[in-house]
Amino acid sequence: MLCCYCLGRIRPDESLMVIEHFVPQSDPVRGRSLELDWNNLLGSCNGSAGAPRSRQHCDRRKGDRTVSISPLDPRVRSEVRYLANGEVTSDSKTIARDLNDTLNLNVSFLVRNRKAVLEAFCDAQERKKPGAWTAHAIDRWIEDLTSGAELLEYGEIVVQFLEKKRKQKERAG
Ligand SMILES: [Zn+2]
Repeated sequence: MLCCYCLGRIRPDESLMVIEHFVPQSDPVRGRSLELDWNNLLGSCNGSAGAPRSRQHCDRRKGDRTVSISPLDPRVRSEVRYLANGEVTSDSKTIARDLNDTLNLNVSFLVRNRKAVLEAFCDAQERKKPGAWTAHAIDRWIEDLTSGAELLEYGEIVVQFLEKKRKQKERAG
């Protein structure tokens, strides 16, 4: 299972997982009715509990604040963009603020982890078969990364990178 915000690996038995109420229980209007709504319960990592607040992230950092778009909303995939340098960003100012401040998803270790996952993926493909970046291969990698039972930690940065490559191939004919 991956954290709904940072996409880092979480294991229920590690007791690091917190069940995240997307709309906080303290929300006067919706908090109570949504308390047991499955769509309002998401798994979050422990957000570096115990670290200084500047280094906390995800649910730990968010606290009772809300973010403008649910991690379950399909629009997340187009609104939230992962850069090859490991940073995560959005063209929407509101979502960018959620990412940078409310959830602190550009805290340095997360940026490093994402970049490392992307580099490891690219290196592995190059080692297996140098220059194998055909449109067909890219399609298959995307399929593998998005349909497996065990999703790749921070894998969305790889998927978005591949989708960009795929578009370039299309344009190049
Ligand atoms: Zn997290």
